[in-house]
Amino acid sequence: MWMDRIMGLFSVDMGIDLGTCNTLVSVRGQGIVLNEPSVVAVKKGTNQVLKDGQAVGWMAKEMLGKTPGSITAIRPLKDGVISDFEITEAMLKYFINKVNGKSRIFGPRVVISIPSGITAVEKRAVFDSSMRAGARMTYLIEEPLAAAIGAGLPVAEATASMIVDIGGGTTEVAILSLADIAVCESVRVAGDDLDEAIINHMKRAYNMMIGEQSAERIKIEIGSAAPAGEPASMEVRGRDMISGLPRKTVITSDEVREALSEPVAAITEAVTRTLERAEPELAADLVENGIALAGGGALLRGLDKVLSKATGLGVRLADDPLTCVARGTCIFLENFEEWKDTLENDVSI
Ligand code: ADP
Ligand code: MG
Repeated sequence: MWMDRIMGLFSVDMGIDLGTCNTLVSVRGQGIVLNEPSVVAVKKGTNQVLKDGQAVGWMAKEMLGKTPGSITAIRPLKDGVISDFEITEAMLKYFINKVNGKSRIFGPRVVISIPSGITAVEKRAVFDSSMRAGARMTYLIEEPLAAAIGAGLPVAEATASMIVDIGGGTTEVAILSLADIAVCESVRVAGDDLDEAIINHMKRAYNMMIGEQSAERIKIEIGSAAPAGEPASMEVRGRDMISGLPRKTVITSDEVREALSEPVAAITEAVTRTLERAEPELAADLVENGIALAGGGALLRGLDKVLSKATGLGVRLADDPLTCVARGTCIFLENFEEWKDTLENDVSI
């Protein structure tokens, strides 16, 4: 115990939200210190990460979809599973070293939030990567728990809280009570699938290919799950599939909403399915407490309305949904000594 305290004086406690789109790092006592895309640039056909500093995060994201022949930019967690362990490790190492610096005597104590759907093997890989990256100790925390803490839900109390965290690759739905996850479901339908639905719509309706980044821009600018405000339209550029030449066209918010209806329905079903699995007493609490939404995908206009209509419950968007998990991990770190044991089941090595 005292050894740990002394080591604590010479090292930091670090929280990492290892997201499919974005990785956020927080430090105990400082809050969020890093927020970068979960992207790594590698030499094509290999696992060889490009020179440090240009290869990970923002620099790598700029390369997505625009890389020259010999380089590919990869999102190693894209679908909520770790597609490549080595690349994930390189990314984690880069972020840990960037925050920890080289000057510390001891490695950091690290709490990493991971999607609840990943396998035991993947969990182990994240743990090992973090240790190899120089962590003194590593704990894994289920993402819905971190999201719920970050959203300010009373997770430690004897009442049910429900959180829906819609990220890029996965949507995590969980009902929590007494600092434990009572029911949860992780589905691989989230923000990326909304982008993909827009790409498919452009192909079908306009014979036009657009890139992932353009699709994401359309979603953020005029996308919605339910009618919200004045109808809007937007100019879209891409490549004509017949002539092969660059071209532009205009699409409306109504057609984007229609295009998004399928993935939105899949997210809605995950929420209702989870509610159906809850014990009656917990369900009863939720009538009072409602549902909180977190994650970047929750920012889709009108999604709260759609979920409220489907469940009959009150639905609210958490403050700053994109940083909910990171802030939750940070609050967890602030209370680490107190919560470490009470949450033993959720913090495993
Ligand atoms: P992850 O935790 O998986 O890294 P995030 O919580 O960072 O994911 O959310 C990323 C997702 O949120 C992306 O699909 C992104 O397009 C989406 N997103 C971000 N801002 C908005 C917005 N204003 N409207 C709709 N979607 C958004
Ligand atoms: Mg997330």
